[in-house]
Amino acid sequence: MHCPNCMWKDIGKIGANQYYCWKCCIELVVKGSTLSVYQVEEDGSLVSLDDVFSEAERCIEHEQSM
Ligand SMILES: [Zn+2]
Repeated sequence: MHCPNCMWKDIGKIGANQYYCWKCCIELVVKGSTLSVYQVEEDGSLVSLDDVFSEAERCIEHEQSM
């Protein structure tokens, strides 16, 4: 798992399928094998950034193995 925006790997886990990049302040939500990217507004609302990234960039690498 890494941030599709800054490629930083040390992203925080905030939920079962939710991650947060502290570097660019974006929320990453895992949906199947694809990542949805959201920008967190000051009022706490989420703005989708999916259009900003290509599907390939949002595809999750299966680096997790037992
Ligand atoms: Zn980032």
